[in-house]
Amino acid sequence: MKVNRRTFFTLAGMAGAVAALPHSAEAISLPDPAAPAKLRLSCQEGVAPGKTVAEKLDFLEGLGFEGFEPGGGGLAGRVEELQKALQGRKIKISAICAGFQGVPISEKEAERKKAIDTSKEILTAAGALGSTGMILVPAFNGQTTLGNKEARELLVTKILPELGDHAAQAGTRLLLEPLNRGECFFLRQLADAASICRDVNNPGIAQMGDFWHMTIEETNDMGAFISAGKYLHHVHIASRKTRNMPGEDEGDNYTVGFRGLKAIGYQDFVSFECGCKGKDRKQILTDAVKLIKENWAAA
Ligand code: MG
Repeated sequence: MKVNRRTFFTLAGMAGAVAALPHSAEAISLPDPAAPAKLRLSCQEGVAPGKTVAEKLDFLEGLGFEGFEPGGGGLAGRVEELQKALQGRKIKISAICAGFQGVPISEKEAERKKAIDTSKEILTAAGALGSTGMILVPAFNGQTTLGNKEARELLVTKILPELGDHAAQAGTRLLLEPLNRGECFFLRQLADAASICRDVNNPGIAQMGDFWHMTIEETNDMGAFISAGKYLHHVHIASRKTRNMPGEDEGDNYTVGFRGLKAIGYQDFVSFECGCKGKDRKQILTDAVKLIKENWAAA
């Protein structure tokens, strides 16, 4: 239906009828989380200080971290190593950071197949490690010639159903990651990822949000996380101007976003994906944790 000014006023007048529409009902009320949100910190393997996995885990556990995020490249060959390293510890594997080859929304079938095959291998390993999900970017800038409409259709009807089934069988998820325009144009906002998850409607397909990309693409962190809602199963965090440790840029603040996570009763991890400007990584990471906890308490 084409809504002109007149129709709009007529619809607005039908307040009761409008409120009965599911979209309107969701739009006007904040979610009421089943359980209070938890702040569960995680750190990417390459960000954590230490020479060995054991050293990294020791340091992170000492700071109260609950999650560890390895890369997906070669993960199948590391399952035993990581399981052993985590034995008897409180810390768990959080998400798996990408690591697949090929391009899920390439115009070339061989590239798509490579992305599917290598993602399935990582998903199987992710499931064995009890991971919340494997992160996937549909295409970086320059990796596909498909237009937005064609790429979305391909993703929603073919690629994601196949990967979602595999992920669910493996006991994990595929997590779509929206990036910023400097890295991709296809998927840049959390609400867009959520609408893809909704349309795929597969228990193995979910999404994440990354504060760094959100700084560039979102107008409101809280609104973005609420839009993602039940589909949100991982969050990346970094400083907001230069993608270093939280607190290394002036004005770093995550309170508004954390309000969104609290509104949806978020239960998954907030994971460090960032560089480090300063020399004393251990101290800077310790300070970052303090800032994040303060912001969480203020949210
Ligand atoms: Mg990220």
